[in-house]
Amino acid sequence: MKIVKLRSLMLYIIIFAFFTGIAFFIYEFVTQAQSWAFSPVNRHLAENSIVGGKITDVNGLVLVENVNGKRAYNEDEDIRKAVLHTVGDGSVLIPTSIQSRYSKEIFGYNPVTGFGAPKIFNMNKNIKLTIDSRVCSEVSKSFKDYKGAALAYNYITGDVLCMVSLPTYDVYKRPSAQELQDERYNGVYINRAISSSFTPGSIFKIFTTAAGLDLIPDIESRTFDCNKIKIVDGEKVTCMSSHGHINLKNAMAKSCDIVFSDIGIELGKEKMKSKMEEFGFNRPQYFEGMEIAQSEYDVKDASQADLGWSAIGQYHDKVNPMYMLKVMGAIANAGVPVEPRITKHISSGALPNTRLMRPSTAEKLKEMMRYTVKNHYGDSLFGGIPMCAKTGTAEVGEGKVPHGWIVGFSYDKTFPIAFSVIVENGDFGIKSAGPIASSMIKDLYSGFKSNKYA
Ligand SMILES: [Zn+2]
Repeated sequence: MKIVKLRSLMLYIIIFAFFTGIAFFIYEFVTQAQSWAFSPVNRHLAENSIVGGKITDVNGLVLVENVNGKRAYNEDEDIRKAVLHTVGDGSVLIPTSIQSRYSKEIFGYNPVTGFGAPKIFNMNKNIKLTIDSRVCSEVSKSFKDYKGAALAYNYITGDVLCMVSLPTYDVYKRPSAQELQDERYNGVYINRAISSSFTPGSIFKIFTTAAGLDLIPDIESRTFDCNKIKIVDGEKVTCMSSHGHINLKNAMAKSCDIVFSDIGIELGKEKMKSKMEEFGFNRPQYFEGMEIAQSEYDVKDASQADLGWSAIGQYHDKVNPMYMLKVMGAIANAGVPVEPRITKHISSGALPNTRLMRPSTAEKLKEMMRYTVKNHYGDSLFGGIPMCAKTGTAEVGEGKVPHGWIVGFSYDKTFPIAFSVIVENGDFGIKSAGPIASSMIKDLYSGFKSNKYA
């Protein structure tokens, strides 16, 4: 009797283990099958034995298509490099690329038939992108050997016209494992526009100004004082120069650190944090249904001086380039950004447009950023096109060259473009990111005037 009991117990254990294994396999298959199929070791499947849809840019230029059963990319090496992070290389190495994000649509992969669906059932979609790949190529080249990201979008339609991330590589000459160890390929698979966030430096003054406009009633009529150095609770906050008596508008144009540090300290931690969260910090933001790197504002453990530094875009502040693009779209659109998109005629589960700031605040920021360009950078920066902008130079640690930023948008709605450019360790924003944004804007302007993006 005992032996029979023991045997049936063992049988039950075996049956239980069998079904657990099956359940585990099904779970893994459902959740992972797609990434197995597209994994680098199985790359030959995705590349050679299947028919994939075509990806074209806004002008119909083919970025990738199938030729004789193989994925064939654009013939221009500069274009291939500029659109690498957008189009992808047919593997899962760049998870935010269109070929990864829409692999189901492009390759017709499904868990039942895998890549083996008969051609007659071929449902592969061609995808038309909103980017101008020729502009992307010029912008990508203008980074020279620097790393960073550049974005531009139509703030009325949401169409992204330019998205580049550096460093990059040619999809036909992938860097070897050894080359990948080299500093110049650091983070090469990351689309920095989507998946990275950086210290903002002075572009953050836009947010501090917005918080001040909302919560300090007389802020626009006030006069502040900058004597280059201010001691707060025994710690130093410093400015680039001694600006003397200065109002908010000129503090923005001249990017005075002391004024914005004072505003942050006056508002205090709680109000600063809740305002930043209202503007979109510390919460998920999306692009084409993918979560982008979060923009962060954290002053929990900040001293008063740290709080001052946080109001000028230092301390623990982090912003993502795509998020900055949306913020520019918000200011241009009375506080509600149109969500950026890069695909036409495909559902990406886009979120509804949500308000980031009050209409009156957006309007005032717009005028201040216009004043900044007119009176400080000069309209010649954008070839006379009336733009609103703010630069930033973000300190990233002792002995390291700061990151250069410029963000902005067109004042004139007949050329509805917003942009966001970061040059990693590029030094002053106006010197590093400024010329990249300048040529990108001029290039897009001529495209607009010749109705290329209609
Ligand atoms: Zn100052």
